Amino acid sequence: MARIDNLPPLRDVIATHQLSAKKSLGQNFLLDLNLTAKIARQAGDLTNADVLEIGPGPGGLTRGLLAEGARRVLAIEKDARCLPALQEISDAYDGRLQVINGDALEINPLEHLTPPIKIAANLPYNVGTELLVRWLTPDVWPPFWDSLTLMFQKEVAQRIVAEPGSKAYGRLAILAQWRTDARIVIDLPPQAFTPPPKVSSAVVHLKALPEPRYPADATTLSRVVAAAFNQRRKMLRASLKGAAPDIEDHLIAAGIKPTDRAEQIGLEQFCALARSIKG
Ligand code: SAM
Repeated sequence: MARIDNLPPLRDVIATHQLSAKKSLGQNFLLDLNLTAKIARQAGDLTNADVLEIGPGPGGLTRGLLAEGARRVLAIEKDARCLPALQEISDAYDGRLQVINGDALEINPLEHLTPPIKIAANLPYNVGTELLVRWLTPDVWPPFWDSLTLMFQKEVAQRIVAEPGSKAYGRLAILAQWRTDARIVIDLPPQAFTPPPKVSSAVVHLKALPEPRYPADATTLSRVVAAAFNQRRKMLRASLKGAAPDIEDHLIAAGIKPTDRAEQIGLEQFCALARSIKG
């Protein structure tokens, strides 16, 4: 196997620093550095970018990002046991890696980063989805990041890229596709991880569009889509009853049949509906 750097193999790193995987932190590690370099390449040209990595663990993806030439990597890791291993990476890469020990849901990394900024992560499922929604719903657009390259359970990845009419289509698809180009770029079987999780995974790449695909007020769109998909089996005139007093008129103005259900409605129509409601 080709080496991407002069640091020890990840199996040795894990043994040396006694990093037995903790289930409570969703630790399923990637040990194949060729694979982590391949994931890092999906983030695009890193040489002029700062990369924010969440959950570096023993540093497999971190090493991939640095070997692919990232200008700087800022990594936020909750598990303090990983810090000595990450320090070795920082030393080997001339300090291009900075590590913050803490919970990514609590830390604002912005003060440590200089644009352009790319985000890359292999995170536990619940933290990953929560961070993704935050990154997709800032107060202003474009956001602080250029692109997100994120590992998810395959089922979540499919929800991000889902098309209308499919079971996976819902709020996550709308939030993602309204203001980014979102693609699944790598599929991974459970055996790619140590220990292997129960389900398959996929890497999703989301590139921020300079402006939303269709105009709409973010808060209104978000509220309408949440209500519509909360009761996805109901007709929209029922599920959206609370969204506006004269909801049937707004649906018709947006070119939507009031008897349609949420999963039949494309992004463009949801944006038209949000515009009509916002007035
Ligand atoms: N990136 C490494 C890899 O690919 O091998 C580790 C991936 S493992 C799936 C998830 C990592 O996220 C673990 O190192 C875990 O400790 C860390 N983590 C879990 N919750 C976190 C949180 N809220 N904030 C920061 N890191 C977290």
